[in-house]
Amino acid sequence: MAKKEDIITLPHKDLRTTSSRVGIITEDIKKVIKDMESATLDWEASRKHEVGVALAAVQIDVMLRIVVIRENLDDKQNHTFRVFINPEITKLEGEIVEDYEGCLSIKDIYGHVPRHSKVRVKAKNIHGKDFTVKLDGFLARVMQHEVDHTKGIVFIDHIKDDAQAFFHLEDDGKLTPLDYEKDIKKNRILW
Ligand SMILES: [Zn+2]
Repeated sequence: MAKKEDIITLPHKDLRTTSSRVGIITEDIKKVIKDMESATLDWEASRKHEVGVALAAVQIDVMLRIVVIRENLDDKQNHTFRVFINPEITKLEGEIVEDYEGCLSIKDIYGHVPRHSKVRVKAKNIHGKDFTVKLDGFLARVMQHEVDHTKGIVFIDHIKDDAQAFFHLEDDGKLTPLDYEKDIKKNRILW
């Protein structure tokens, strides 16, 4: 079982590397999925104010296109995940909405990130069967964030020139604006 220590964080170069497609879903692939889930839950248990919403395989340094998203985002006691193998966004729809986003691979930094409010996604399930799903609202945001991970993109890359978009998670759970010039622009860990 993977633990929170198995989650890689910036400046790890693999976070900006494209993952490969999954072929046959072997026992090894199923083990990767279990590891992704256990690492996410272990991370969540160590974080006072955050929920482990989703993870891409690259975040435990497995360079495969696999994403897991919590089945019920409102219930921390629900430890089941939806699995998306080789996920592809086939359509971006709706308005562009800005909202806060964080990442298990970028400690304590949050960003105000513009995303489409609706997406259509094509993926394979754990049995290798193709399925499509429409997501909206926060789930659409989560899916765009995770599919980005499979392409070596992290959320801060979308807002790198936006001086107002970066926030720090304080010990009391509040988000406070960061000093863009000092904390972000010249931060060698992030870029
Ligand atoms: Zn992330």
